[in-house]
Amino acid sequence: SQEQMERLTTLLPDWLETSRLHTSQGKVASYIPELAKSSQDALGIFIADSQGKVISAGDCGIPFTMQSISKVFTLILALMDHGEEAVFFNVGKEPTGDDFDSMIKLELVEPGIPFNPLINAGAITVSSLISGENPQEKSERVLQFFRKLAANDKIDYNLAVYESETESGHLNRSLAYFLKQNGIIKDPVDDVLEVYFRHCSIEVNCADLARMALVLAFDGVDPCSGEELIPRRYVQIAKTFMITCGMYNASGEFAIDVGLPAKSGVSGGILTMVPGQYGIGLVGPSLNKRGNSIAGVHLLERLSKEFDWSLF
Ligand code: GLN
Repeated sequence: SQEQMERLTTLLPDWLETSRLHTSQGKVASYIPELAKSSQDALGIFIADSQGKVISAGDCGIPFTMQSISKVFTLILALMDHGEEAVFFNVGKEPTGDDFDSMIKLELVEPGIPFNPLINAGAITVSSLISGENPQEKSERVLQFFRKLAANDKIDYNLAVYESETESGHLNRSLAYFLKQNGIIKDPVDDVLEVYFRHCSIEVNCADLARMALVLAFDGVDPCSGEELIPRRYVQIAKTFMITCGMYNASGEFAIDVGLPAKSGVSGGILTMVPGQYGIGLVGPSLNKRGNSIAGVHLLERLSKEFDWSLF
């Protein structure tokens, strides 16, 4: 509402600075060497509503790579390409309780499919399901889809991050070989990983994430243009995964404390939304022990409590 937007505009800058104090208690991800260059005390947020009104605070203009946030949208694209049945023949629907890059549960599920599309094994499987003749064509389709959702043609890869991930991604490579061995992925491992590493390295800012989130907040329709970009059913599936596994092993805690569908990435980005109202993009590269932006989660918790945003 108009009134809530006005209160947000007044409160957000102060609240952001309070949350920013928490950045010193977290850590910037370094297992992808290029990500270690992110600034520890950065924090920015961008909120967009359906009328085209926006509120922003802090370092909302800084570029960062989508990382795991991209998994939500490659899942949606794979669903649009092949439908629900084909996608969930290859990937499950359950949270793991393990780290996002864990191999542990891979062996336990019948018939050997990854638990869900938001852990790395599941997302690598999803990358293999994107339609296209070759990795270039698949990646190009992903990029064009993301540009459309963010209403920004300028979005592109951060090639330094892409190369850094390709060089250091031995664990992802071993997950992919395991999936290949079990017949879950059909294409050559390197082709699948190229698509996966590329979509993880797509660079955005908070405004881009907020626009993408806005489409999910309005069940697949871009409220600014009125165009349906995603079938409603696939948004429903994506948002359900965001609630159950979007914030890694802190998804339950986040559902209790914030109560909104959200997806985080190791670059410190968080995409979340207040369904029917706002799309929210946030970045804070300093991560808590569970791998989520430490200051970002703090800020979202405060906002959700103040404005009673929890869905539950
Ligand atoms: N590209 C990262 C990886 O594969 C994505 C992980 C993440 O954001 N949690 O490790």
